Amino acid sequence: MLAEYGVKEIRLHDSELRIAEQDKFYRLMVEQVEEFAVIMLDPEGRIASWNRGAELITGYTREEMLQQPVARIFPPAQALSRADAERRQALAEGRGVDEGWHMRKDGTRFWGSNVLTPIRSPDGQLLGFSKIMRDITERKRFEEQLARKARDLAAMNAELEQFAAVVSHDLRSPLLAIAGCAQLLREQFGDQLAGEGAELIAMMQDGVNRMGLIIKDLLAFARATPAQSRFEEIQVEQILAKALSDLREPVQESGATITHDPLPVIKANASQLTQVFSNLIGNAIKYRSNEPPRIHIGVTQREDEWEFFVQDNGIGIEPLHFERIFAIFQRLHEEGQYGGSGVGLAICKKIVEHHGGRIWVESQPGQGSTFLFTIPMQPE
Ligand code: ADP
Repeated sequence: MLAEYGVKEIRLHDSELRIAEQDKFYRLMVEQVEEFAVIMLDPEGRIASWNRGAELITGYTREEMLQQPVARIFPPAQALSRADAERRQALAEGRGVDEGWHMRKDGTRFWGSNVLTPIRSPDGQLLGFSKIMRDITERKRFEEQLARKARDLAAMNAELEQFAAVVSHDLRSPLLAIAGCAQLLREQFGDQLAGEGAELIAMMQDGVNRMGLIIKDLLAFARATPAQSRFEEIQVEQILAKALSDLREPVQESGATITHDPLPVIKANASQLTQVFSNLIGNAIKYRSNEPPRIHIGVTQREDEWEFFVQDNGIGIEPLHFERIFAIFQRLHEEGQYGGSGVGLAICKKIVEHHGGRIWVESQPGQGSTFLFTIPMQPE
């Protein structure tokens, strides 16, 4: 157990330690611990003991540091203020905490986490302080890296949203112009155009309709932003009813049977959650197999989140594609096979993540799919 803390070797003669031996044992242990700097300070903040861990972390030897002010291990510009703040807090609150950059003997920096505790005699007289310090530079660097990545990702998402908003807005008017021209062509010259000409106009109108759908989805994607999400208490049964009423046509046409568990009241953004259900159920109908769709919406209450699922008996998905389908414009089928723009699941992912949740799929080809997502009980 001691080896875990870097204590190399301590030989004890007897398993029943006497008090004197215990004292010696503890002193040796403290001196030899390598993972922590364990430092004793006198009441004025000068170093009274300096263990092996302190030597390894700072590069200063015991001989160099005894009787020196502890402020020496802080960067010079902050040395006095930080040493002083730590000491004051320790005296006032019984524990002074300092976390920040420190200086090694060779001038390099390390991120140290410190606790300073006053040591008093039984009659309350201040004898000095114990200072325990850990070098957590690696962890700090890792956290900084993560924070940088999160910032980059947020910036990329913001750019993508802006791009989607601008593109979808700007594409609308030329598209309307093309749609108008195709309509005029058909009305004014329709009877002069032989079969192939009429077919070409029909194809043009198809293309225009399809582009209209992509633009609509892009706009919905751009709009599913946190600024749009106000969390309120909502009855998920009502949300589901709204989503189903939006899907009335495909539900009827496909002869789908849709069932659900009793659904809870949760905190979320109503219109965004409606969109999630509507996209997932819409897909469950669209990607149906030869059998009429059977779709079940369920929920599991976890410790601090709700886990919802939408289960279907459709064509299923290869595990290989589980991640990819949540990215924008990623589709697994040719346009002619199933209509769609590949934006629906990207919208669901964005919305769920804005609520602080996760979304994923479990499926096997030919065995149906279950899309699951969580909403924290206290969304961020
Ligand atoms: P779209 O449906 O417009 O193509 P989505 O982002 O909603 O876009 O879905 C992405 C892809 O994921 C779909 O093209 C389809 O291949 C697959 N998919 C989504 N939902 C299901 C489902 N319930 N069953 C099988 N495949 C699905």
